[in-house]
Amino acid sequence: MSMQMPGMLYLVATPIGNLGDISLRAIETLRQVDFIAAEDTRVTLKLLNFLEIKKQLVSFHEHSSRESGEKILTRILNGESCALVTDAGMPCISDPGEDITRMCGEAGVTITVIPGPCAAVTALALSGLPSGRFVFEGFLSTARKSRFERLEELKTEERTMIFYEAPHKLMRTLHDMLNAFGDRRVSISRELTKLFEETRRFTLSEAVSHFEESPPRGEFVLIIEGTQKSPVSTLPINDAVSMTKKYIESGLSVKDAVKTVAEQTGVSKNTLYNAVIKE
Ligand code: SAM
Repeated sequence: MSMQMPGMLYLVATPIGNLGDISLRAIETLRQVDFIAAEDTRVTLKLLNFLEIKKQLVSFHEHSSRESGEKILTRILNGESCALVTDAGMPCISDPGEDITRMCGEAGVTITVIPGPCAAVTALALSGLPSGRFVFEGFLSTARKSRFERLEELKTEERTMIFYEAPHKLMRTLHDMLNAFGDRRVSISRELTKLFEETRRFTLSEAVSHFEESPPRGEFVLIIEGTQKSPVSTLPINDAVSMTKKYIESGLSVKDAVKTVAEQTGVSKNTLYNAVIKE
C-alpha cells in the first residue's frame, strides 16, 4: 500500500488593480493546483476568466476561517495542492490567510509563496519618505477608544508608518492623525496601478484642506513620517546661555527664549532655564 504524500499550500499574490501585474509563477500555480481557496470566489472568478483558467474554487472567509480552514487542511493532508488568494495583493496582509497558514504549518504541510503586489510597499516606494525603517499599521480601529490609544502610542514612533484607509473614513483619519501627530509630512496614494492612480505628498493639514475640496474616491494608502529624534546637544551650557541672552535682548520673554534655544540646540529646557535665571 502506498502512503499518500500531503499536498502543498501556495500563498499566491494577485494584482491590486492592474491585471497585468499577475506574475508568470502565479499563473502557472493557479493552473497547476488542485483547487483554489479564495476570499471572494466571485472576485477570483473574474481573474481566472481573464487568465482563461478553469479551476475548482472554494471560499475562505476571515470570519469562518476555523471551519473553512479545517476543510482546506483536510484536503491538503489528503494529497491535494491548494492556492490561497485574496481579492487583491498579498494574502495575510490586512487580508485573510494567517490562520490557514498557521494551521498548515502546525500540521507539517509544506507552504510556499508566490509573491507579488502589495499596496503598502508600493505606496511606501512612491512616497519619498524614509523607507529604511518602517512599520505597517494596516487599518486603524474604528472604535473610538482603541483608535485613540493606538494613535497615542504611535506619537513617539520614529519609523515611517503605513496605514490603509477606505475613502469614506479618510477625512476622520486625517483629522485624528493631525491632532495626535501634529503637522507631519504625509504621502497619500490612491488607486495604485489603476487608471486614476495618484500620489500626493504634503503635510497632514494640507491633506485635510485638499480632501475638503475634492472628496476622497478610491482606495487609499497613507505613508506618514515618524517623529524626529530630539537632537542630542553637544553645545556647552555657557554658549547656550549666551544665545538665550541674545534672544532676550532682542525682545523675547525668558520663557520663549529658553524654549527657542532648547529646540535649536537640544539643550534641556530646565537646565537652560535654571542656568539663565542664576546669571
Ligand atoms: N492584501 C492587500 C495588499 O497586499 O495590499 C491589502 C488588502 S486590504 C483588505 C485593502 C486595502 O488595501 C484598501 O482599503 C487600501 O487601503 C489598500 N489598497 C489595496 N489596493 C489598493 C490600490 N490599488 N491603491 C491604493 N490602496 C490600495
